Amino acid sequence: MEQDMQQILFTQDQVAARVQELAAQITRDYAGKTPLVVGVLRGSFIFMADLVRHLDLPLTLDFMAASSYGAGTTSSGLVNIRLDLHDDIAGRDVLLVEDILDTGNTLSKLVAELKGRHPASLKLCVLLDKPERRTRPLEADYVGFTIPDAFVVGCGLDYDQKYRQLPYIGVLKPSVYE
Ligand code: 5GP
Ligand code: MG
Ligand code: MG
Repeated sequence: MEQDMQQILFTQDQVAARVQELAAQITRDYAGKTPLVVGVLRGSFIFMADLVRHLDLPLTLDFMAASSYGAGTTSSGLVNIRLDLHDDIAGRDVLLVEDILDTGNTLSKLVAELKGRHPASLKLCVLLDKPERRTRPLEADYVGFTIPDAFVVGCGLDYDQKYRQLPYIGVLKPSVYE
């Protein structure tokens, strides 16, 4: 699959090291609490699995799914909650985990929805942040890496549902999707 990459932005080792740093920070920030870690499917599954294994805290897990992208590489602007949480989040310290914060369409919708359910707190943790593309006023509390405006895959991120399993973050050659 590496032949489909124009560039490797972050190697497996670099991702692992950064995830450990984030986990250490989250462990300190949530000391004494039992956060509810919510993963946004499908893109967050690898990052979330790596992250929670380094959190030295009691915690519970839940998942939701939203859709805004089809097979293309730009956001449609429309967001649907396709899978909702299993548990009630009222009074919980919710940490929402997502693969990437891009335009902010998806996450601003999810954040607004979850805030309406009265959690004790709600923070956002993303592996990647593309601030140049933001169209909504939303920032993450925890960011793995800030990246330029390029379409990336790997570590959970897909193109047309493929490449999610790659252990590194790479920029796809435009020839793959043009
Ligand atoms: P947003 O709503 O912030 O524009 O983006 C929401 C979703 O778009 C992300 O959760 C992710 O699934 C997808 N996305 C945004 N940028 C990229 C990218 O560079 N690569 C991939 N594979 N997905 C992206
Ligand atoms: Mg996503
Ligand atoms: Mg996707």
